[in-house]
Amino acid sequence: MSKINPDYSKIRKWIDQPKNVVITTHRNPDGDAIGSCLGMQVFLEAFGHKVTVLMPSEYPLNFSWMPKIADCLIYDLQPDECKAAIEQTEWFIALDFNGLDRIDKMGEIWNQMKTDDIPSLLIDHHIDPEPFVQETFSDTSASSTCELVYDFIMGLQEQKKMNSDIADCLFTGIITDTGRFRHATSSKVYRTASELKSFGARDVLINDYIFNSFTEKQLKLLGYCLYERMEVLEDYQTAIISLSREDYKTFDIQRGDTEGIVNYMLSMPHIRLAAFITEQPTIVKYSLRSKGDISVQEMASKYFNGGGHKNASGGAVHTSLRKAIDNFKKVLPQYVHSSINTNSINT
Ligand code: 5GP
Ligand code: MN
Repeated sequence: MSKINPDYSKIRKWIDQPKNVVITTHRNPDGDAIGSCLGMQVFLEAFGHKVTVLMPSEYPLNFSWMPKIADCLIYDLQPDECKAAIEQTEWFIALDFNGLDRIDKMGEIWNQMKTDDIPSLLIDHHIDPEPFVQETFSDTSASSTCELVYDFIMGLQEQKKMNSDIADCLFTGIITDTGRFRHATSSKVYRTASELKSFGARDVLINDYIFNSFTEKQLKLLGYCLYERMEVLEDYQTAIISLSREDYKTFDIQRGDTEGIVNYMLSMPHIRLAAFITEQPTIVKYSLRSKGDISVQEMASKYFNGGGHKNASGGAVHTSLRKAIDNFKKVLPQYVHSSINTNSINT
């Protein structure tokens, strides 16, 4: 676990002078990415800043209820507006990602135009944050970036600026990144959630908006994945679901339709590693989850050009789906020891 604290006296100066602020987050934004950006936006607007939130790609529809989300710009849909916003920014804020490659083209734009005169801040909980900003607030023991945005507001001693909109946003990131308090928990995260509730977070409603949001098509796709496409490798306590380009066509799968499917495999008690491998138009994407000490973060960064967290990671390769599945199976024994091997060692 490692932690980098920001220089709050420097940030105080940035905060006190209204600016054009850009807040950006990673591709395929999840609840933590979206919640941290919008919570930060509402917080900074209270100081008179003009804030624009930029996302590399579209957000899932079950977050459409969130404050200010309709105002955010999406690079895939509005590249020129996003480019102009970065070029005009007077304070660049990066939330919930650790390297500029996670924001694609926008990372290149920022890299080209950043100067010592433009304040820049990163708040994140992924390991090894890259030095693309002036001030970093990083804590890999935090459940979520939203937990850190709350710490940031408290670090600035601005609890009086907290309101129910900010609380809703930050609560969203905490419940999504902890899988509703099932992993990455700590006494601190429960305390933070409790404080957010005191500030007006609508926890029951938020849970309903986010998690009771399946369409009939999505539930049927989930059924198909589990019944037709799941392969259980008993010896390796691992399960794989893969979807081909053909499946995407048959089910008319859109962004977000496959969200969360990977987690179902871990609901089998003996399964410790789950891989959801999907054939996209130009890449094959891995979505990896694990239990306990198995590091899918290491697997994703070493073999699949990706990263993430120890128990939840992703990556992508430019191979066929078949080869992507085979490669996963090839590296698997390094991470989960075959029970057959274990038995033969024991006997
Ligand atoms: P998911 O499987 O839900 O797409 O992603 C799980 C976690 O892995 C997230 O924390 C996400 O940030 C990270 N992740 C997913 N895809 C990639 C990738 O291509 N590169 C990196 N560095 N991280 C990824
Ligand atoms: Mn996060």
